[in-house]
Amino acid sequence: MTTTSDSAVREFIAEHRPAFLDDLADWLRIPSVSADPGRAGEVRRSAEWLADKLRSTGFPVAEVWETENGGLPAVFAEWPSGDASAPTVLVYGHHDVQPAAREDGWDTDPFEPVVTDGRMFARGAADDKGQVFFHTLGLRAHLAATGRTAPAVNLKLLVEGEEESGSPNFAALIRKHADRLAADVVIISDTGMWSADTPTVCTGMRGLADCQIDLFGPSQDIHSGSFGGAVPNPATEAARLVAALHDADRRVAIPGFYDGVVELTEQERELFAELPFDDTEWLSVAKSRATLGEQGFSTLERIWARPTAEVNGIWGGYTGPGGKTIIPAEAHLKLSFRLVAGQDVEKVRQAVAAWVTAQLPAGIRHEIVFPGATRPCLTPLDHPALQSVVRAMGRAFEQKIRFTREGGSGPAADLQDVLGAPVLFLGISVPSDGWHSVNEKVELDLLAKGVETSAYLWGDLAEHWNAAD
Ligand SMILES: [Zn+2]
Repeated sequence: MTTTSDSAVREFIAEHRPAFLDDLADWLRIPSVSADPGRAGEVRRSAEWLADKLRSTGFPVAEVWETENGGLPAVFAEWPSGDASAPTVLVYGHHDVQPAAREDGWDTDPFEPVVTDGRMFARGAADDKGQVFFHTLGLRAHLAATGRTAPAVNLKLLVEGEEESGSPNFAALIRKHADRLAADVVIISDTGMWSADTPTVCTGMRGLADCQIDLFGPSQDIHSGSFGGAVPNPATEAARLVAALHDADRRVAIPGFYDGVVELTEQERELFAELPFDDTEWLSVAKSRATLGEQGFSTLERIWARPTAEVNGIWGGYTGPGGKTIIPAEAHLKLSFRLVAGQDVEKVRQAVAAWVTAQLPAGIRHEIVFPGATRPCLTPLDHPALQSVVRAMGRAFEQKIRFTREGGSGPAADLQDVLGAPVLFLGISVPSDGWHSVNEKVELDLLAKGVETSAYLWGDLAEHWNAAD
């Protein structure tokens, strides 16, 4: 269904598309590589460039925010709606990029954008400058098509400068500015869709907890002839732990691990099953020869909606040439757990620690360290803001919008936790865009769909938010 306002939006976007792409190219020329200390100045230049651009877009507030520990700056912008009942939306993205050099195998200079065949090639084109930038033209199209002088929602933008370096100061930054960042809903524009033909919206990400377990037996390596068979062996105990991690159905066997897990609804399972997914094709991407996982779930369900335990590393004892008949003094394990909505990081850690203690025999001392964790996040399908995103995308793409989740983990959960707001993911990137790889690009027609979605979204949210309250 194309309404008058939709054609007004499309006309506006078509008219301003060339200048919009020129601006994006200017931004992409700034090599804002956060991992490279030598380019800290470029990350700063990128932040200032964006703040300037947001001011000229009309944002009355656009500031460069410093991070702690001499970290790299973020950009914050805000444009109040003026309507007392309008919801507040915070859009998240990042302006730093992964390292890139011509020598890595790029066909063209990664920091000199080139447009060919409807695609713009440059580092950051999709991850994430292009996807941050589509909101600027989207907002202008929203204003032009509705005749408003301010957006229909209270719009806030937070664009991080350290995402590609693991967001070391992000949680502290949002805690410090929690008052100014307060929002009813958070929209992350740093994700992708299933494919150009199958537009999707992502509804959640898994969380992550990891640990190292160090096992200590005899105070030094000892003779397996003199002592073997009569004292505990830490390498054997490490292997026994790993073997006990899953049951015969490949479910995680740690008591309490599944406590609170939000189960997939029948509707979600049906919707996932409708996606054009092929295990064989997926295996070629996975570089694996077979699928294997928790019984009773499809591959997509396993990676998107089920928690996991993985052994990332196991070592100990003698591994050199020939044999060495010892009982080693120590052995070590690195485990990681992907978590889903409803699981509590602290409770999972306690369950893992209690399980390890219960499994080990007397004579094996152990230490367990949990270095970091990311919480899972999930927005239910019937959430009104998610419904708005789906309607806005549906108008832009003129197709049914389907749902995905993300198996990985990211800073989105910090926003959900600190701001206490649901997190949604709106991205137009496709798997072939080459994130973190050579020849990164963005499809210009999809970028325009992102602009269009953004143009419809604010009015839809304002209209339906209060109705849902
Ligand atoms: Zn990104």
